[in-house]
Amino acid sequence: MKDVKLEDLPLREDLRGRTPYGAPQLDVPIRLNTNENPYPPPPELVADVTAAVAEVAKQLHRYPDRDAVALREDLAAYISKSTGFPVTYENLWAANGSNEILQQILQAFGGPGRSALGFEPSYSMHPIISAGTRTDWVPTPRRADFSLDLAEAAAIVQAKQPDVTFVTSPNNPTGQSVPVGELRVLVEATPGIVVVDEAYAEFSSQPSAVSLLDEFGHKLIVCRTMSKAFAFAGGRLGYLIAAPAVVDALQLVRLPYHLSLLTQAAARAALRHADATLASVAQLATERDRVVEALAGMGYSPVPSDANFVLFGPFGSGAWQSYLDRGVLVRDVGIAGHLRVTVGTPDENDAFLAASKEIIA
Ligand code: PMP
Repeated sequence: MKDVKLEDLPLREDLRGRTPYGAPQLDVPIRLNTNENPYPPPPELVADVTAAVAEVAKQLHRYPDRDAVALREDLAAYISKSTGFPVTYENLWAANGSNEILQQILQAFGGPGRSALGFEPSYSMHPIISAGTRTDWVPTPRRADFSLDLAEAAAIVQAKQPDVTFVTSPNNPTGQSVPVGELRVLVEATPGIVVVDEAYAEFSSQPSAVSLLDEFGHKLIVCRTMSKAFAFAGGRLGYLIAAPAVVDALQLVRLPYHLSLLTQAAARAALRHADATLASVAQLATERDRVVEALAGMGYSPVPSDANFVLFGPFGSGAWQSYLDRGVLVRDVGIAGHLRVTVGTPDENDAFLAASKEIIA
């Protein structure tokens, strides 16, 4: 085939020169770079997923339930139980990872001539999905210690009037949560949609923003995923909790049958094991605190974290490679002098800490 370069293609002008999302996927012994749960699914869960998939495979000649009602009912039961805030399947919408949910939100509420705002540094896909949907991105800084300056944030949101405001809580890559009282101030400050991205909520000591939905259903969306605490990153299942009208809005942009029969069945089976899977959360939080303490003891400055990862520094250049040379994959999130490490198993954390000790020496 003739060698065709990206420059040769009639690509949209606004996409030229952009870089795709690209956390390196390297085959190294200790992989602590994409905030997954380090514990593989237990045998009972694997058996249940396998049986569920075998059962629905008999129906693979038919399209799946386009509205994924049974799965949404299961997710609603999980959210009602874990947050104490009762929701039904009409409040839930699911897709292939919360990235697809975020994309559908911007397709419906962003787009050409509209804007989305985020408090940076934060999740790198928020601006990338904004670019993909041609939504203007309004980057808004956090404090030097990466915390959110609420008064300033509310004033900026009020002044800029973005159509969509993203608040990531706990924030990736810095780890801090935004308390519900502060979220309320932000939601009140904007007439636009506020998306609270709660990908790491299960690790957080702060309650979920879902309690604000009674009051702010016309502009609040809470986004979640099974990729982190649920140990289901490979299964690709994200979801949101919102007013039923938000779900109606997203149905205008979703692709028909976007969630395969296999995904729906596997996710439902995994949800049946929620209690066992989520038992690892407390252990990971304890490990996180151990990692933070050990890093501080070595002379690093870890940022306090409410999630399953820790941002830490200071580093000169070349530190990411120094970890890799020691078989440890961490994440360079583009913040000068800092790296982010995902909390792993105790053995993985020990290996990471041993490498950290050598690197700071
Ligand atoms: N939101 C945040 C804050 C994340 O960190 C991630 C994953 N890194 C996602 C959303 C997307 O996760 P997924 O598509 O796997 O649900």
